Amino acid sequence: MEYLIREKVVLGVSACNFGAPFRYNRKGWDRIKAIGREHSDFIWQAVCPEVSAGLGIPRDPIRIAGGNGDDVWEENARIKNRKGEDVTENLKEACLNTLKMLRSVNAIGYVYMEGSPTCGVYRTTLKNKRLGHPPGLLGSLLLKEGFFLIPAVDLDSPLKWWDWRRRLHAFAWVEQQDIQTKQDLYNLWYTVKFLCQELDEPSARAVGKELASLPKGFMPSYTVDLKRKIMDILRKPSTVSRIKERLWKSYVYYKRATNQEIKDILHPEMQRNMTHITKELIEMERQAFQNGTFFSSAPILYRSEQRINKMIQS
Ligand code: SF4
Repeated sequence: MEYLIREKVVLGVSACNFGAPFRYNRKGWDRIKAIGREHSDFIWQAVCPEVSAGLGIPRDPIRIAGGNGDDVWEENARIKNRKGEDVTENLKEACLNTLKMLRSVNAIGYVYMEGSPTCGVYRTTLKNKRLGHPPGLLGSLLLKEGFFLIPAVDLDSPLKWWDWRRRLHAFAWVEQQDIQTKQDLYNLWYTVKFLCQELDEPSARAVGKELASLPKGFMPSYTVDLKRKIMDILRKPSTVSRIKERLWKSYVYYKRATNQEIKDILHPEMQRNMTHITKELIEMERQAFQNGTFFSSAPILYRSEQRINKMIQS
């Protein structure tokens, strides 16, 4: 098994967060620039279902009347604009076409604009602290289709982005693994086990138990079910304290394995800001990769062929 992703992960992104002024009021943000050079480690596919539905820019804001995005797909709610015009059918068609397009480019994740009745996942309004009626229409489809969903606003926080990025690469890697034997399945689990334990201890324990009690022989159906459970755990964000604890444990292991120190890495109880913690994590990732040790917090890294060849030659 190789613990690297060599192909760039393809991510869909709400176009209004990719620099396009596509919101109903002609607003837009370039949130991708917040992640700096890392943006080129991914292939981005910007989409805007509301514009694809022919609603225009600027346009009347829309809302889901009588339910949420799931209810609209089940024909129990409608989408209307401020004038009361029904735009449901156009928007449904645009969302289905968006999904088809994201699938056609092999996107496994989507960076979404929270608060939108279309792209929102856990909120469909930005008014005050209200949640609206989540998920939105596209959000509902992407949740059902098992996309790795990242709120665009989290790209503004280096630590949150680091957390999303390491889980996304682990998620993509798990999905890609061709499992032929039970041992392959165990190896897959050992690779992401510590990360899963950090994210959701009870669910990780349940997966471990299930693996330990698999019946004799190998059935491909084990793989589908267990991969799905592992990928569900990998969707869950961590917390700052858990990230620091796990970083420290990995660093202790690293020091023992390599006999080397990394001066910037601090004990979990030492106060420092998020930027410093992110720097520690990135340095730990880099050093662990260079020295061939395992960094269990970020077990899967993306490295282009070019970068790997450069490392081999140097
Ligand atoms: S939130 Fe989605 S539908 Fe709304 S403007 Fe942005 S990309 Fe378009």
